[in-house]
Parts: sequence; C-alpha cells; structure tokens
Amino acid sequence: MALGEFELIERYFKRPVRRAALGVGDDCALLTPAPGMQLAVSTDLLVEGRHFLSTVDPARLGHKSLAVNLSDLAACGARPLAFTLSLSMPRVDEAFLAPFAQGLLALADEHQIELVGGDTTAGPLTIGITVMGEVPPGQALLRSGALVGDDVWISGMLGHARLALEVFRGQLQLSGEAFEHARRAMECPQPRVALGLALRGVATSAIDLSDGLLGDLGHVLRRSGVGAQLRLADLPRSALMAEQQDEVQALCLLTGGDDYELLFTAPPSRRDAVRAAAQEAATPVTLVGSLCAGDGVQVLGAGGVPLDLSGRQAFDHFRS
Ligand code: ADP
Ligand code: MG
Repeated sequence: MALGEFELIERYFKRPVRRAALGVGDDCALLTPAPGMQLAVSTDLLVEGRHFLSTVDPARLGHKSLAVNLSDLAACGARPLAFTLSLSMPRVDEAFLAPFAQGLLALADEHQIELVGGDTTAGPLTIGITVMGEVPPGQALLRSGALVGDDVWISGMLGHARLALEVFRGQLQLSGEAFEHARRAMECPQPRVALGLALRGVATSAIDLSDGLLGDLGHVLRRSGVGAQLRLADLPRSALMAEQQDEVQALCLLTGGDDYELLFTAPPSRRDAVRAAAQEAATPVTLVGSLCAGDGVQVLGAGGVPLDLSGRQAFDHFRS
C-alpha cells in the first residue's frame, strides 16, 4: 500500500534536530535565534512546467529547490539556519520522493541548514521553501545601498542555464558533453552563501541573479536611485559560452535567468577587500562595470558603442 501523509513525512523529511529547539512533528517548529541577531526570511515557489521540466532528475530538483532559496540568503549576507518545505504532489511516489529528499537534504547538510517543518498535500507538483537565516543588525546586504561611482561585480559565470534552456527548446544545438555541462548549471546551481557572508561590510548592495542580469541589475538601480554602465566584453563567460554566436552570447549573458550568481557593488577603494572576500569564499568574481548618476543600464559593445537593449526583457512570470 502507498505511504500515507504522515508516514512519508516521517520517512523522508523528519530527522533529529540539531540546532532547532523543536523540528518536524509538532504544530510549530521552535528556533532559538542567537541573541541580538536579525532573522532573514525568504521564500520561493517552484511549479512544474514553469520553473522545472517534468523530466528533471528528482535529486537535482531537490537540490535546486533549496539552492534558489539559499541564494536569496546569500544575496543578503545571511547565514542559513532553518527551512520549511511545502510540498504538493499528485500522488505518493517513492521513486520520486527518495531521490528528491536526498538531493534536498544533501545540500542542506552542506550549508548546515535544518529542515524544521512544512506541509504536504496532494495536488500539482509544486515545491515551496521558506528559508531563515541570521545576520547582525545593520549588516544585511540590500538592493538599496549602491552609490554613484561604485564598481559592479559578478560572481562566477553567466548564461549556462539559458544555454541549456535553448537546447531544450530546440533553438540551439550543443555537443553531448557541452550540453551536460550547461544542463548541470541549470539543474544544480551552487548558491554563493560563503561569498555573501564574506561581502558583509564590503559590498554596498547585492542581489542574486535569478531572472537575468539586465532585470536584476535594474532592481538594484531603481532601489538605489543610480544608473549603470557595463562592458559586454567584460561579462564573465566560460569557454563554452565564448564559442557561441555573438547573438546567443548576448542573449544568455544579459537576459538568461537561473544563474544564481551574486551581483554586488562596492566602491573602487574596496577592490582589494572584494578580492580578499572572493578568495576567502573560494569564489571567482569579475569587475564588469560601474554606477553613474541617472537611471537604467547602458551596455557597451564592440568599440564602446552602446547596445540597443530595447526588446531585451527580463523574465517576468506574468508577461513571458
Ligand atoms: P498541521 O496539521 O498542524 O499543519 P501537519 O499534519 O501538516 O501539521 O504536519 C505534521 C508535521 O509535519 C508538522 O510538524 C509539519 O511541520 C511537518 N511537515 C509536514 N510536511 C512536511 C514536509 N514536507 N517537510 C517537512 N516537514 C513537514
Ligand atoms: Mg499541514
């Protein structure tokens, strides 16, 4: 007989609590925040067919569901503490649940974040996670702190998730090995938690790149009341990306979503501190531009000529 709701929670999602005072199994979880710390809370919903393909490997889906949430904590410079999991699925399928829980909890262990509760129901496959982290008062990295003259930095490399998506959509062809590489970036993003922590007190603002560079940078610019100038040639790209046609590169680098890299700003006087933070977090960072008075993003292409960005929309769930 198929597992019931409570047996499946017990089997896959209940583990002995470590830091929480009370975890899965009661009406509430109980957490004991460190004295004087602020709680950073963020939530993300993943819907089948919208945020992931129904063919995705369940272990990778478990990983990604938590990774996108950890990425929000990273962008705020918060240290992960605990999370809840709301799971809606059509039926109890242990061939799905076992690897899903394994992928999810492996990433949780890597970041020492604890699953303390959730909700489970029958319905379309949907995964809602709420993460909680802690940050000393006044030290959270915000979208609103960027200043005219600041450098703009990006961690890691951009665009692989979009490359993979274009292959899935039949718009692009890649060799088997190249596709596996791009697909791994799309399905197994690595949240930049260590970098977010190291950038406390160094970066003036930060955001994680989930919806594409132009759109997400736009959020920082609007919240901070500044403009930005980027150089297309300086955007961090892999050898695989550099092999693609110019138009494909521009699409993936500027508007490709699902990268989960951090974009952050810091004054030029803090370049050494930024590089030290990157080294401490063992995460590569690239200087891609600077902030100016005004609004909006200008991207300089070949020969320093600004690109025409009209029609290059960031991803919007209700418009795309
Ligand atoms: P309630 O009826 O009070 O909402 P539930 O019966 O839904 O409680 O859940 C029982 C316990 O199992 C609660 O502690 C809840 O937090 C936990 N739980 C339910 N679903 C999940 C899940 N997917 N992952 C982790 N914990 C869960
Ligand atoms: Mg419930």
